[in-house]
Amino acid sequence: MTKTVENAKAIGYADLLEKIKAAGLMEYGLQREALADRIYAACAKEGDVYVHAGLNNADVDRALLALLRDDPDAVLSGIAIAGFLTGAAAKFLYLPEDEEELTAQVKPKAEEYKVVVVNDIINVRESEGDLLLHLATAKDLADLADGKYEAGHYVVLPGEAPKKVAPDTKVTDLLPAEGVKAYYLGYQYYTPEEAASLTAADAVTGVICTLSEKDCIVDHTAKILLKDRKASCGRCVFCREGLIQLEYMQKEITLARGKTGYYDLTEEIGDAMGYNTLCSVGQVSANIALSAIRKFGDEYDAHVKKNKCPAGVCASFVHIYIDPLACTGCGECIDVCPADCIEGKAKFIHMIDEFECTKCGKCIEACDDDAIQMTSGKLPKLPSRLTKVGKFKKH
Ligand code: SF4
Ligand code: SF4
Ligand code: SF4
Repeated sequence: MTKTVENAKAIGYADLLEKIKAAGLMEYGLQREALADRIYAACAKEGDVYVHAGLNNADVDRALLALLRDDPDAVLSGIAIAGFLTGAAAKFLYLPEDEEELTAQVKPKAEEYKVVVVNDIINVRESEGDLLLHLATAKDLADLADGKYEAGHYVVLPGEAPKKVAPDTKVTDLLPAEGVKAYYLGYQYYTPEEAASLTAADAVTGVICTLSEKDCIVDHTAKILLKDRKASCGRCVFCREGLIQLEYMQKEITLARGKTGYYDLTEEIGDAMGYNTLCSVGQVSANIALSAIRKFGDEYDAHVKKNKCPAGVCASFVHIYIDPLACTGCGECIDVCPADCIEGKAKFIHMIDEFECTKCGKCIEACDDDAIQMTSGKLPKLPSRLTKVGKFKKH
């Protein structure tokens, strides 16, 4: 038993609960409730009670795993203290399956605290009545027992470690607002106008980030939904199939194969998922797609109806071409092209086979004459066959 857990036991059950109440300690994440009430509720369970600690199942940002990585003793102590307060028959720590390194780091220590590490999501149905404890709450609990608890809400800003700020801190005061097209936090997007009324407490995974005109909302949504899809355990049909469909539609849109019918289908599936699933993965993951389509419909229309990615991110809408008036026929680009899709010979204007081009951009770097261009707009008139340098007529 570590010093922190000893401290907690020395304070005693009743006094420690009073301390938790006096500090206003809240459960972190989606179940933002007074921790003392959650402990009382678990104590009232008939039969054995268990502590299940982890991130919220839907948290694919995983930014707050840093708390465990940086100070495993504190988080494990918090779990052990929660076990003491609830009289738990066993305590579990849930880590995503692919967090092998963290699992290896934490497992030997967890044994000292009699905490069982499980590489899975929390089975909400089977853990009904038990104490579900966020890792950040466990850390707070340990800090409280050690007398070093500081009130606040953990946030993780781009490129920074988790830090605590007052829960009512305005989101727009945490990140510069210049050039921001969208805010992303708590499983959904917000317009800059909406973000003005959001506070740090709305960041239920801790993560707060912004997207600028250089970021594509559809591409960002597709990537997060892919992570959600991997997080789903597949027990609920609406979560399993819904996430497959949602991710597929966003991906298709980024690949220039989008249809306007996908908008209504996203609404239909997204709404149904919220009501027909067991845990947060199914209940909140669809919000990213729903908020993207509802609030940034213009960006979807640009992809689907205008065949354009306004941010220039989706490669299927990007063209790479050789400016026939700038090419000197030096041949440097041919040597670097991994797809072998540049045609040309000395002193002839070179041409790119767009069908084979992977848009890797290597030729752009190799061309000293700046003749290779990337555009998400319309292509200019280009030679249809090999033409001698200087002989191409624009009109
Ligand atoms: S909502 Fe259902 S299928 Fe999805 S992760 Fe939770 S339990 Fe598994
Ligand atoms: S595109 Fe650039 S690198 Fe390629 S042949 Fe023309 S001038 Fe040379
Ligand atoms: S972008 Fe890449 S694949 Fe396309 S022509 Fe240039 S080097 Fe070849």
